[in-house]
Amino acid sequence: MIPVNEPLIGEREKEYVLDCLETGWISSAGKYVDQFEAKWAEYCGMQFGVGVCNGTAALLAAVAALELKPGDEVIMPSFTIISCALAIVESGATPVLVDSDPEIWTMDVRQVAEKITPRTRAIMPVHIYGHPVDMDPLWGLAEQHNLIILEDAAEAHGAEYRGRKCGSLGNMSCFSFYANKIITTGEGGMVLTSDPDLAGRLRDQRNLAFKPERRFYHTELGHNYRLTNLQAAIGLAQIERIEELITKKRRMAQLYEDGLSGLPLQLPVEKDWAKNVYWMYGVVLDDAVPFDVLEFAHRLKESGVGTRPFFLGMHEQPVLNDRNLFIGERYPVAERLARRGLYLPSGLTLTEGQIEQVVEAVRGILV
Ligand SMILES: *Cc1c(COP(=O)(O)O)cnc(C)c1O
Repeated sequence: MIPVNEPLIGEREKEYVLDCLETGWISSAGKYVDQFEAKWAEYCGMQFGVGVCNGTAALLAAVAALELKPGDEVIMPSFTIISCALAIVESGATPVLVDSDPEIWTMDVRQVAEKITPRTRAIMPVHIYGHPVDMDPLWGLAEQHNLIILEDAAEAHGAEYRGRKCGSLGNMSCFSFYANKIITTGEGGMVLTSDPDLAGRLRDQRNLAFKPERRFYHTELGHNYRLTNLQAAIGLAQIERIEELITKKRRMAQLYEDGLSGLPLQLPVEKDWAKNVYWMYGVVLDDAVPFDVLEFAHRLKESGVGTRPFFLGMHEQPVLNDRNLFIGERYPVAERLARRGLYLPSGLTLTEGQIEQVVEAVRGILV
């Protein structure tokens, strides 16, 4: 079976991890955490990096740092991972949804203005599958209504919007370094900001809100979201080779595009204002195809090709509906993506021969 996504771990990663083991720096204290935070912030063009234990924790810490009140609202896409809604719900605020752009699958920024109310505090754009959100309209709305922009850039390491890196396009940005992300630490995450007050609140969230002045005296509640030196060691080695990893993803996308064009499938695009890093190569079945995406995935599996389904929109999640959220709301683009989309093998270990095999399998099913 051709795997959907596997990390690429090299000699440098092993060398840095071995250094942690040999020197005994295996907890969240140690030089690699500082170096990883500084390097990633610099790469993305932000001032501060706060490393955390995963991407979901990054979102939880970032939303908590906004100190929202019950009834405050955050606008986010329906078509994303549950982590985004979780962070907003846990903070006591209310998530408010918009549908997806039918072409690039990120939040439809044309729908954001009509969702703004006097309670809106923030917008959470999510760069889906490696393609950036069209930020310009969001910047305008944020300025006009005094809103925070919190990016979820977990799928967009190195992607660019009008020449600027994803992760530097708002007040704060969240990354995941899970094993299937473009750069990985196994499990891991980071929040970036250039605001020193937010950076301080993020560090409080990460480390139980301990205060250096008086360690076991607390004026607020934080969590233990710490990242280990071992994880950061892997991450540092990964940043050092990020251009190679992005080049591989873009080459994969080119080969898929050449092989799959002309089929009844919608393929990923790259808007002229964007650099897409193709974290996952998603495809969406045209309406003319007489079977659904489950059947498509099943047939691909029989040909030895692993796939993963697209997200199911937040408005279709029982756990959120049970909390009285999104009752009766419809987001037709997100609903269609969930029912007609999947992603093909997209890992960094994928060979050109394997990509050809996937193309042949897809053509065999759809031609
Ligand atoms: C992977 C991912 C996350 C969550 O990251 P974890 O490290 O798995 O907790 C959050 N948002 C998006 C868009 C993701 O793709």
